[in-house]
Amino acid sequence: MVQINQKSAITTAVANIPTSPLAAPVASLRGVGPERAAQLARLGLNTVGDLLLHRPRRYEDRRHFKAIAELQPGEAATARGRIVALGLKRWRGGSKSTFEFILEDGTGRLHCRWWNLPFMQHYFQSGDEVLAYGKLESLRPRTMDHPETEVVETDGESLIHLNRLVPIYPLTEGLPQRWLRSLLWRVLPQHVSHVAEPWPGLATPDLPSRANAIRRLHFPEELTDVALARRRLALDEFLELQVAIQRRRRRLQANARALPCAGDNRLMRPFLKRLGFTLTGAQTKVLREIRHDLGGTQPMRRLLQGDVGSGKTVVAACSALMALESGFNVALMAPTEILAGQHFDTFRRWFEPLGTQVHLRTGARKTGDRPEFPDASLATRPSPLLVVGTHALIEDTVALDRLGLVIIDEQHKFGVAQRERLVRKGSYPHLLVMTATPIPRSLGLTLYGDLDLSVIDELPRGRGPLKTFVRSADKLPKVWEFIRRQIAQGRQAYVVYPRVEETDRGQLKAVTVEWEKLRRQLAPIQVGLLHGRLGADAKEAVMGGFRAGKVQVLVATSVIEVGVDVANATVMLIEHAEQFGLAQLHQLRGRIGRGAHESHCILVADLKTEEAAARLRVLEETHDGFRIAEEDLRLRGPGELLGQQQSGLPSFRFADLVADGALLERARAMAGEILDRAVAAPQAG
Ligand code: ADP
Ligand code: MG
Repeated sequence: MVQINQKSAITTAVANIPTSPLAAPVASLRGVGPERAAQLARLGLNTVGDLLLHRPRRYEDRRHFKAIAELQPGEAATARGRIVALGLKRWRGGSKSTFEFILEDGTGRLHCRWWNLPFMQHYFQSGDEVLAYGKLESLRPRTMDHPETEVVETDGESLIHLNRLVPIYPLTEGLPQRWLRSLLWRVLPQHVSHVAEPWPGLATPDLPSRANAIRRLHFPEELTDVALARRRLALDEFLELQVAIQRRRRRLQANARALPCAGDNRLMRPFLKRLGFTLTGAQTKVLREIRHDLGGTQPMRRLLQGDVGSGKTVVAACSALMALESGFNVALMAPTEILAGQHFDTFRRWFEPLGTQVHLRTGARKTGDRPEFPDASLATRPSPLLVVGTHALIEDTVALDRLGLVIIDEQHKFGVAQRERLVRKGSYPHLLVMTATPIPRSLGLTLYGDLDLSVIDELPRGRGPLKTFVRSADKLPKVWEFIRRQIAQGRQAYVVYPRVEETDRGQLKAVTVEWEKLRRQLAPIQVGLLHGRLGADAKEAVMGGFRAGKVQVLVATSVIEVGVDVANATVMLIEHAEQFGLAQLHQLRGRIGRGAHESHCILVADLKTEEAAARLRVLEETHDGFRIAEEDLRLRGPGELLGQQQSGLPSFRFADLVADGALLERARAMAGEILDRAVAAPQAG
């Protein structure tokens, strides 16, 4: 994924130092034996270079200590004193324990307690001088539970651990803070001189050199040093990524010849005539951009962003037709089987009357009632076709011959690596990536910095309004009354719960349990169940029933979040809405409001805190996906916004996509300069 390209960027940047001492394994350092090396490896610290970039979790100002008498409850502080008493208490047959010592500093006494960690007794002795960092649990007596501690030793190393700002590192079991700090203190002066400027000649006068940044990261004079050091290292991380992204794009532009896929309207004209609606201005504008790319000299790399319901599917269809008219095959990839199945049905309905074949290829459905996609015969097929699938499409070995265009729907569920792999199936096919998640700019530059952007900024007309309400759980009876009335009028409803099955604590409602209840309560209304653990056939059956209107209420997890399109569904009830991100809720409610009738989204949530209520109110107030996504990014961070590991986001050690937007823009501009210079003087790259 991106990281691979980052690596290659680093390699290129330091190519003139083939075997940097920073690449030496930590075990080569004096004082690091196999056991310590194994512990460091658990922290991801394998080389000397890794060690130098081990970021302190926090810093402790050991120039001043708080007197124990002055410690305040709820306020984190470090106390310094001597152990005057200590002991281990066991109960419940020895299965439970507390270890406790009392620290005395002349002003007062501090009790430090550890629950069920009996081995702690081996680390301390009466008379030891100890630093304890934590928050007071109680005042009488003054008590800290599970404080971070460090025994003060008079071994000539006190200048490392005392009377200064000291780094506190993330640790792993068995690895002492003090030992790691001493190691860095020794290793730093020996090795920091090997830290080269990754992009020599690049001016960053407001920031320290990389070597200095690393020095200050570990042993700063003041906390302002740390902030500058972090900024510098964050810039380097952004630069690495931006150079990799832009280099990939430039390489493509230099090497790849585009397949002529602009088409001749032969299929497009009858398609649009039979469609039943006219394209919006925004759809037409975007299609013009796409056609320009498909007829250009370089393969298209385009991101199509459009809010839920803006009509991306028909844009995908028109783009596919352009390539098909030009005699090339097209692949369309969706993140879930449900969505792939739905696209398959839609495109078959649209394309088969035009004489164009559509095939389905997902993990579960290569065979069965759907036509098999014959592996070898694609190349010999006389007329081009469209293949719809999930990532099974990229996992298997099918050679998609004469592949002209790859379309990826709902990209945020795919990693960058998957995207690249699918594209590499052909010889530089065009790529269209579609997403409904409005991506804040900092994330966009990181994930899609190599793609051109098209935006559908207009919804099709003739849609009924969508209203959103936030309610607490005691209003549920009223909500259900409302839903029954809507169903009596012929509408359909989604009901969303956060869990598939009830967990031990049973605090969150689960679809399986609620479905059983609702089936009984709502009879004769038909209630369907949909969640990710169902088999493909079961999913297909219930979706088919819902689409056909035989099932009126669909009880589901957030699997329906992407793409499901049933215009007659106008009500959505989401329980435990506080469990979801705002962008995800926005996606979910995008399943309704697709037809001419008025739609209602009811968010039932625990509104005990003002904060939770205010967060959800954003959805009552606005339909602006960008505002919602920015809010989510601010409140929950990028991983949550994009869906954790699936996000394809590189893991930064120093950079922060929420706070460092300006730094990222700067890195983007600098990356352009770096690559321009590499072109001017190729050997230098
Ligand atoms: P999304 O952008 O969320 O993928 P879809 O492509 O699923 O949205 O479109 C939502 C619905 O709107 C579909 O039923 C589609 O047929 C319909 N639609 C798309 N474009 C138009 C249009 N120009 N006029 C009317 N309806 C449209
Ligand atoms: Mg869609």
